[in-house]
Amino acid sequence: MKISVLTLFPDFIKNLSNFSMIGRAIDEEILELEVTDIRDFAINKYLQVDDYPYGGGPGMLMQVKPIVEAIESCKSEKSKVIYMSPQGKVLTQDKLLSLSKEQHLILVNGHYEGIDQRVIDNYIDEEISIGDYVLTGGEIPSMVLIDGVTRLLDGVLAGEESFSDESHFNGLLEYPQYTRPKEFRGYTVPDILLSGDHEKIRKYRLKESIKNTLLKRPDLLDKKILNKEEKDILNDLLEGGK
Ligand code: SAM
Repeated sequence: MKISVLTLFPDFIKNLSNFSMIGRAIDEEILELEVTDIRDFAINKYLQVDDYPYGGGPGMLMQVKPIVEAIESCKSEKSKVIYMSPQGKVLTQDKLLSLSKEQHLILVNGHYEGIDQRVIDNYIDEEISIGDYVLTGGEIPSMVLIDGVTRLLDGVLAGEESFSDESHFNGLLEYPQYTRPKEFRGYTVPDILLSGDHEKIRKYRLKESIKNTLLKRPDLLDKKILNKEEKDILNDLLEGGK
């Protein structure tokens, strides 16, 4: 997969190439990360890329020409052009999964007060937000998306198992996990995890996963279609079971 990032801060994004899992994905040619400096398409020799908004108002806006030319410099018919924006749909694990199947993502990073609306109306396929808050620029949101997508690409994690058990993959939060030692300052590991009985461990983890979701994010259970086993566990928990 190829991801192109259009930014005023190319070094910020380029650093990702040295970062553990993303660096490995790039080294193994699973991911190609291209960083384009929007300033290379500035409108004048002063490298201007922003201007005052028509109609007045605070701050500066990124101009249409540099962004459009930056998009055109890396776009092909296989590209999906995304504007990282607090006005977009909030990123979810499902969305990351569908993005991980794309061949080429172009991530447009805004700054200042944002970007000229004509870019959004005519050159952007989708706006994506990383949450209902406003950050200074699209670079950190892009990094979030790149990290989230990269770990779903074939060959990046040890096996499909590595993310299919994780929080949000199947609409539930993950179960609690433990590693050595068995005891630390009197705090112990649940016996069942040391039993070696895979079926009992599977059931225990499913129950803990549902319990975790019920306690921390009950809203997720409203959206999840539960199978019979999951429904029974949930009903038991709701009736006071442990
Ligand atoms: N004036 C804009 C508005 O109210 O919608 C916000 C502009 S923000 C200060 C500057 C840039 O940061 C945006 O163009 C966008 O690329 C990025 N950004 C800020 N918050 C974001 C979020 N929650 N998700 C994705 N991108 C965000």
